[in-house]
Amino acid sequence: MSLRLRLTILYSALTGGILLVFGMLIFFLISILLVNQVDNILTTAAREVLGQVYFTTSGRLSLIEFPHSDLMTGVHVLLLNEQGEVEHNSAFIPGSETPFETNNLQKRRQEFSSVYIEGFHLRVLNIPLKVEMRQVGTLQLAYNISNVDATRQALLQVIIITALTSTLVAAAASWLSLDRALSPLAAVTETAMQISHADDLSRRIPLEGLANDEIGRLVAAFNETLERLEHLFNSQQRFLADVSHELRTPLTVIKGNVALMRKIGTTDPDLLAGIEEESDRLTRLVLNLLLEAQAESGKLPLHFASVELDTLLLEVFKEMRVLARDRVHLKITEIDQVLVNGDRDRLEQVLINLISNAIKYTPAGGDVVISLAKVGENARIIVRDTGVGISKKDLPHIFERFYRAEKSRSRAVDSGFGLGLSISQWIITHHGGRIEVNSVEGKGTTFLIYLPLLKPEAAVSTGKAA
Ligand code: ADP
Repeated sequence: MSLRLRLTILYSALTGGILLVFGMLIFFLISILLVNQVDNILTTAAREVLGQVYFTTSGRLSLIEFPHSDLMTGVHVLLLNEQGEVEHNSAFIPGSETPFETNNLQKRRQEFSSVYIEGFHLRVLNIPLKVEMRQVGTLQLAYNISNVDATRQALLQVIIITALTSTLVAAAASWLSLDRALSPLAAVTETAMQISHADDLSRRIPLEGLANDEIGRLVAAFNETLERLEHLFNSQQRFLADVSHELRTPLTVIKGNVALMRKIGTTDPDLLAGIEEESDRLTRLVLNLLLEAQAESGKLPLHFASVELDTLLLEVFKEMRVLARDRVHLKITEIDQVLVNGDRDRLEQVLINLISNAIKYTPAGGDVVISLAKVGENARIIVRDTGVGISKKDLPHIFERFYRAEKSRSRAVDSGFGLGLSISQWIITHHGGRIEVNSVEGKGTTFLIYLPLLKPEAAVSTGKAA
């Protein structure tokens, strides 16, 4: 059963049900009020009639006369003797030569009851008449309540018709409004089907004309998911192409060098060096892929210990000077003594990645400036370069795995695999820190790393990352 039909049935059943219950309550309340009114008339009339009743000297019940006040209009009176026979009768109802009812004749208290006599619906008040605790007769007063019945019946009809009409109107209104409300869902389904059939992640569900309600937000979220999926899909595809390319080049060089050596019949140091260099590159690629896979699955172990960040930074600085040669001016402007709780090798990996990137993406003659300072509760490392910068389009994505800016992809330099920053970010966040980037295209890039300082009393632990 469709959601639309289910909701329609639910809404209309609720509307009809509530109206019916409410209507029935009113019906019973009005019925009780109407009967109470009749009972009051009968009680007041009984008082007037009782004022006229007396005992004859022969011990019989008698009546001075039937009262004729307005109150008595519609009230029929029977005076019954001890045996239940009619002594006096004001009733104009056919068949009223006998008591209106006999069930209550023996009762000691006055009682109300309802009886049907010859098609008349009567409300009867039965009052036992006593002399010195002995019942000497009974007074019965009756009132025709057929009008009350008619009123109740009309009320019941109105309630049922109103409940039915409301149910139908609610059903129609729900059906139509749900059609409007749910039609975007049909569009979502349709688009999702088209996407899966055509393998086309570039499609989006049009947002025009949709209110900013649950469905509008669902569509927006769905589009956003598609956007991310498309992006992920594209970067995976790009990665596959990149990896194949990265693998092919060193393999071609290795194979070529081996073939050459075979041809000349001897080993050549230059050719061997070429093979070694390319093997190193292949190893780096495989290691990076392995790290990424471990980080991704949460299985990258981090061995925490107290780390002197300033010493570590100086070591990396010395290594990186070799890479920078005279091409780029690499310098440290500020270095505080800083202790953090971390995995030394992994933190070294992050520093190497950021500084080597800075050197790589800075043209000859440019600067790469590094600093380490305590800022509040954190150690802050800044790596600033005057290089090519990162475009606004690329900036939000550079921490994604396999992401490489268009520019750096097309560059002739050894541009890496687009994994370094994603692994670096993983490492820093799993140290309780954060990594930030600012960049202006053509002017340069600044990376900032914040790591919590080691508190003197903090225990140094070793463990696996979550
Ligand atoms: P890669 O190994 O390709 O450098 P990274 O994950 O380290 O991968 O960096 C991702 C991308 O971010 C790079 O391809 C490059 O486009 C950009 N990038 C990183 N650092 C810099 C920088 N200092 N200057 C300009 N672009 C940078």
